[in-house]
Amino acid sequence: MMRKVVVAPGGVEVREVAEPEPGPGEVLIRTSVSGVCGSDIHALQGRHPNVTPPYAPGHEVVGVVLAVSPEVTSVLPGARVTVEPDLPCWSCKQCRAGRENLCEHLGFFGCGSEQGGMADLFTIDARRLHELPEDLDDRAAALIEPLSTPVHATRLAGPLGDKAVAILGAGTIGLLTLRVARARGAKRIVMTARSAAHRDRALRFGADAVVDAQLPEAPDLVRAKLEESADVVFDCVAEESTLHQALAIANKGGTVVVVGVPPGDVTVPLALVQDSQLRIQGSATYLPEDYREAMTLLREGVVDAAEFVTAIRPLEEAAQAFADAAGGGHLKVLLAPETQQFAL
Ligand SMILES: [Zn+2]
Ligand SMILES: [Zn+2]
Repeated sequence: MMRKVVVAPGGVEVREVAEPEPGPGEVLIRTSVSGVCGSDIHALQGRHPNVTPPYAPGHEVVGVVLAVSPEVTSVLPGARVTVEPDLPCWSCKQCRAGRENLCEHLGFFGCGSEQGGMADLFTIDARRLHELPEDLDDRAAALIEPLSTPVHATRLAGPLGDKAVAILGAGTIGLLTLRVARARGAKRIVMTARSAAHRDRALRFGADAVVDAQLPEAPDLVRAKLEESADVVFDCVAEESTLHQALAIANKGGTVVVVGVPPGDVTVPLALVQDSQLRIQGSATYLPEDYREAMTLLREGVVDAAEFVTAIRPLEEAAQAFADAAGGGHLKVLLAPETQQFAL
């Protein structure tokens, strides 16, 4: 078995390690594709709060079940599956209430767990698998995990029908959030980004207007283009500057959903939050129902894999795939042990 292991900030290398055996309750998966996530780039740059290299990356994974341990009945060899990478304990207060994403002893496959999905083969708890419908190909299925993040975040935000929405950040998650907010009936959606290329991309993907996030007057410009304050702001960057912009755009009475993984703590203008009755809503990964809705959105064409997957590289080119993903010109970059079948 070959497994990708990040060995130091800034570096990715391929190592050959022994093929894993499925333990009790586990299945052995042959990977078809595995996506590079923004959180992987942050981890490599030493900017992720919970993941420190070296680690085994790969949490946006699609594959085929090769073998199951004897007591597993939920999935059979040959099934095409994707992984829901939260690794909950299944027994704490949150898990018992069906909130595994908030497990008090949460692990995460491909973000600090022993194995990750950037490998030919891996083993995982059978309860973390979702079987794929036939009409979702591997490339589209690789978007289920990242799409589930905005599906969960928009659900926490509350109904978006006829609402004014701002989205800060126009990377993969920002653009997926745009598509989900649109599907949920948002009236007007304005996006911000620092780079002109990302702003152009946001317009191409369907934003009603865009604003340069670097301008000091960015919050006023967003409100002007929304023609009102935002009912909901999705902060897909989650840094000091974007949280302050988000609160200013949502003022008064609006909701700020923290979708991005913050690289560190930020200050909060608490008087503004109190006096303007603002809601700051954290959003942590997803739940099985979000996976099911993400599959539906992909099948309905709300998100088209051909637009979002901009590169597929062989597993051996993991370092280049990470460089592509970090460069800003790509959206989703996938690694595939066998790439011939995936000519873009
Ligand atoms: Zn991710
Ligand atoms: Zn738990």
